[in-house]
Parts: sequence; structure tokens; C-alpha cells
Amino acid sequence: QSVPVITVDGPSGAGKGTLSALIAAHLGWHFLDSGALYRVLAVASLHHDIPADDEEGLVPLATGLDVNFTCENGLHRVVLEGEDVTDDIRTEEIGAVASQVAALPRVREALVRRQRAFKDQPGLVADGRDMGTVIFPDAEAKIFLTASAEARAERRCAQLKAKGLDVNIARLLSDIQSRDERDKSRTVAPLVPADDALQLDSTSLTIEQVFEKALDFINSRI
Ligand code: C5P
Repeated sequence: QSVPVITVDGPSGAGKGTLSALIAAHLGWHFLDSGALYRVLAVASLHHDIPADDEEGLVPLATGLDVNFTCENGLHRVVLEGEDVTDDIRTEEIGAVASQVAALPRVREALVRRQRAFKDQPGLVADGRDMGTVIFPDAEAKIFLTASAEARAERRCAQLKAKGLDVNIARLLSDIQSRDERDKSRTVAPLVPADDALQLDSTSLTIEQVFEKALDFINSRI
């Protein structure tokens, strides 16, 4: 029996992670956070001293990546080579390295099968940049979630402040803009909406409103 897939793609900070987790919890489906995979690879590259532009060195690391995603009592944990890296992968620095390693075609290729393996009954919600275009082109429902760069910088700023971290909003905005540029302009799997994706702009919507619109669309597809 075929396994249904819902893809949620878009730039960082648009609310994809929150939306995908809500959809997965609502349906009781599996969840793939593909960005976390690139972030884990970024951490592994630092552990193993492999530069972020060394495609030759990164491919075997990506292929053999010893990572486990677990969820116990709603608590998601990411374990790399036996070490809990759940918090480590969320820094801005690791996000920047992840975006660099993600621009390498053979590194992306090396992670395709691992991502497709998340597809399992009763269904999968996949969050990323190329879920609907490259990894799951036959997905039942595809969503492309955007928001203005300013709105995304403000949300990220609020998240970091809530964690008690010092933040510079101008710096955050310029980081977001340069990461967007790199994600959109790379030759392999650039950040573009699939032709059959529902495009949602969350700039002036609450997460509840986004969830409601997404569910209406999903219900019309599944
Ligand atoms: O979504 P997140 O910000 O965690 O992803 C980190 C980086 O990984 C992104 O900036 C992007 O460059 C890359 N990525 C990707 N393809 C995906 C998911 C993430 O290239 N499917």
C-alpha cells in the first residue's frame, strides 16, 4: 500500500518546522526534518575537521552518517555518533555551515536515500527546501511557506531573546538574506516552489491561521 506524503518547503524562519510538527501530530504521521540532517552533517564536518567546501571529504561522511532521530513523550532528540547534539545543531553558526555543505551536489545525492527512508505508514510530513521538488515529487500535498525576510528576522530575534541570548537584528536580517540567496541560487535543488504547491505567505498570519489554511488544503488532497 502506498504511503501518503505531505511536503512543507520554504526559506528558514517562515514557520515550516512549527507547521510540519503540528500537521504530523494532528495526523499521527512520521516527521522528517531534513534541515536537521544537513545541520548534523555540518556538526560532523567540524568534529572530523573536514572543510565545508571539501565535497570529496564530505560525501563519505554524509553516506555513513551515524545519526539517530528519536522522539519520546513528544521530546525530539538528535544523536550523532552517540552524542546528543539536539541543541548544538540549532546555532546560527551551524546553520551557516549546513547551508554551505547543502550546496554541494554530491553531498545532497548522498542524503537522498536516507531521506526517502523516512516514508513509512501511516504517512510522512517532510520539512525542507526540496521535499516537494526533488525528494518526494509524487507527494499528495505540497506546501510552500514563505514570509518576508524582516518578519523572519523578527521571529528569530524573539526566539533567541526568549532563550536569554544577545541578538543583533540587523545582523540576523543580513544573515537570513545571504542564506536565502545561497539557497535560491545554487545549481542543485534550489529553493523554488513545486509547480503543484500551495503557496502560503505567513508574514501577517498567526501560526493557527497558517495551520488552518494548510489543513483545508491537505483535506482537499488526501
Ligand atoms: O531548515 P534549516 O534551517 O534547519 O536548514 C539548514 C540549512 O540546510 C538550510 O539553510 C539549507 O541550506 C539546507 N537545507 C537544504 N535542503 C533541505 C533542508 C535544508 O539545502 N531539504
